[in-house]
Formats: sequence, C-alpha cells, structure tokens
Amino acid sequence: MSTNGKVKVATMWLSGCSGCHMSLLDIDERILELVKHVDILFSPIVDIKVKDMPYVDVGIVEGCVNNTDQEHELKMLRERCKVLIALGDCAVTGNVPSLRNQFALKDCLSRAYEQTESTKIACIPNDPVVPKLLPKAHPLQEIVKVDLHIPGCPPDADCIWFALTELLAGRIPQLNEKNMRYD
Ligand code: SF4
Repeated sequence: MSTNGKVKVATMWLSGCSGCHMSLLDIDERILELVKHVDILFSPIVDIKVKDMPYVDVGIVEGCVNNTDQEHELKMLRERCKVLIALGDCAVTGNVPSLRNQFALKDCLSRAYEQTESTKIACIPNDPVVPKLLPKAHPLQEIVKVDLHIPGCPPDADCIWFALTELLAGRIPQLNEKNMRYD
C-alpha cells in the first residue's frame, strides 16, 4: 500500500500489440473510481517516468516474453510485486507472437531482415544494445509464477474491471462464463 492507503500498481507491456492496455482504458469513466483506490506508479500509459521499477502490490503484464530485456523486466516485476496478473492471450498462452515458435530462430531473423520484399541491405541487427531475441516466445508462466490469468484478445473491459475490483475487495477473482464472454 502507498502511504495514502492506496494499492500500488505497475503495468507493463512486453510482446503485445497494446490492445490489452487499450481494453484496460476501455473501463472508461470507471477509471475515476479506480484511481480513488489505486496508484499506478509504473506503466506505459501514464506520464510518470521512473528509472527504477517500484515495489508494488499488483503487477499487470500484457504480452509474452520474446527477448532478453523482456525476460529481465518480467523477473524484476515478479520480485517486486505481490500479485502478478497475466493480462490477455499473449501473456497467457503466447498467442500471436508465439506463432514464430514453429520456426528456428535463425530462419525468423532471416525472413524479417534479409528476405523481406522491401529489404535493400540485408542486415540482422547485432548491436549489443539491441535485446537478443530468445529462441522461443514464452507465455509469462513459463518464466515466472503468475497469480491470475485473464484471457482474451483483448480481455473485455468489464472482465478487467471485475478482476480489479475483486482484488481490491481482497478476493481472488473467479472468472467464469459470465465475465468472460467474447460476443
Ligand atoms: S492478447 Fe490480443 S489484444 Fe492483447 S496484446 Fe495480444 S494480440 Fe494484442
């Protein structure tokens, strides 16, 4: 908890399309209710920029783990949060980014950087500042312990709202067919 009694939250997006964060924002005016109870200390959708990952109560992660930087950041968040939520199918199963898993890494890199029709100068990035692609894309639970999975591509805003309000009430959200509709 923050000194003001609010629940501290961090959100992170790894290999995802940002759609899950957009769905989080789709809770619309309910976000005003949410911020009465929650401080979002670290997130790609807030203006606060901090150098170091803060210690928080709840970590929410969109996207799967595709490179060495993402693996490091996820492990750091896991160490620094009490409850870790995998938000959306990319985080839960690997989803679209893991389609590459059926191919060898060198073939993926070659297709992306050497064989694309628009490629003029073939060059697979090899600068040390560029994070290395892992051999496979990983859903979060293959790297760290995950406390709650919220599936969907993206999860429905009402489902995210339900999960967050249940957590704020001190309950483990029980997702079921009522709050996980895709129609
Ligand atoms: S689960 Fe769907 S909406 Fe969310 S990041 Fe992945 S592709 Fe985008």
